[in-house]
Amino acid sequence: MRSISIFGATGSVGESTYDLICRAGGAQTFRTVALTGGRNVARLAEMARVLRPEVAVCADDSCLPALRDALAGTGVEVAAGDAAIAEAADRPADWVMSAIVGAAGLVPGLRALRHGRALALANKESLVTAGPLLMATAARHDAQILPVDSEHSAIYQALVGEDIAAVERIILTASGGALRDWPLEALAQATVKEALAHPNWAMGQRITIDSASMFNKALEVIETREFFGVRPEQIEVIIHPESLIHSLVGFQDGAIMAHMGAPDMRHSIGYALNWPARAPLPVARLDLAQIATLSFRAPDLERYPALRLCREVMEARGLAGAAFNAAKEIALDRFLEGRIGFMDMAGVVEDTLARMMPEMCLETDAMTLEDILGADHLARVRASEAAAALAARR
Ligand code: NDP
Repeated sequence: MRSISIFGATGSVGESTYDLICRAGGAQTFRTVALTGGRNVARLAEMARVLRPEVAVCADDSCLPALRDALAGTGVEVAAGDAAIAEAADRPADWVMSAIVGAAGLVPGLRALRHGRALALANKESLVTAGPLLMATAARHDAQILPVDSEHSAIYQALVGEDIAAVERIILTASGGALRDWPLEALAQATVKEALAHPNWAMGQRITIDSASMFNKALEVIETREFFGVRPEQIEVIIHPESLIHSLVGFQDGAIMAHMGAPDMRHSIGYALNWPARAPLPVARLDLAQIATLSFRAPDLERYPALRLCREVMEARGLAGAAFNAAKEIALDRFLEGRIGFMDMAGVVEDTLARMMPEMCLETDAMTLEDILGADHLARVRASEAAAALAARR
């Protein structure tokens, strides 16, 4: 029986993964090793009652008594805290879904790679923060990383049977997010509610705001560089409002392979779950005659400064990715708290990177987990200072 674990089971990607696992037979087909959540203990317990994992873990220590009560008498072990999540990742499983949001997903993903045969990676922050370390760990332990981000799954599928050396460019599509058609001058006043109204994808709150600011796409540009090993100048971004082409690969003979499908994460999750085979998935089929037209436009870097910043991060290399991601997470927190404006998020990240470059050697190529966590921590301190300064001026 195939064994699986889901990290971030209670989130948007986690729910879609759970749905596919249940449709494929649930506990009859899979032996679940670990299920983890953050604070949503009620949902975690419901899932655990169905899939009967060895262990259910919540990140928040204060939620442990509720989790213990909810799973009393089931025989499912319960635990809480970051160390318990890392320990759960040490339990070998054939297939592991990494769907915790943010830098918190890095350590469990790394630990799982040391044992797991396949890591389905939704947590793009791991690759942005620690790409070289993650890829080297996978290579050392003969583990397979399967991209789950729809863009990277699309690229991965377009590259099956191809030589990466024949790739001229990779074109990432972006919906442009909820504020795509707003006048540039109005963006500074955008509220959280307005930024959350994504036109096509139903996703977690944080990634939805990151889509509106294109910080999500900026992370994906870096993720592409780290995962596929292409040069930054080979990666392009195009706005495609319909979100039906998930990304494209251009080859040196001029051919372009595009991956199309309905905007439903169960496609890329299902591809990773069934890889290397394909199996039927419960996703809507496209009616091309009804769609009739697809549109594209170049992104405006003034509207989306994150796309400019990610180029600077790729040039700096080393720990700049960790600093970029951590500063972005703090900026997003402050925006969600209503303390800074929508466009201030890019200001916080830019200011943090500018202050950290001389303070520590971001360019280092010798990356240990300690270096990465150190850069992450310092960037959070610097970004908090930058956000406080901006908030005071509002
Ligand atoms: P959600 O916010 O919906 O879910 C996040 C999950 O992580 C939840 O299970 C949450 O628990 C848990 N969690 C939150 N904080 C912590 C923490 N500090 N430690 C451990 N667990 C924590 O996120 P998404 O599902 O939207 O995204 C997950 C990842 O997948 C992200 O990296 C995102 O960029 C990526 N991704 C998401 C896509 C999507 O369609 N949603 C598409 C492509 C990539 P709880 O809810 O119980 O508090």
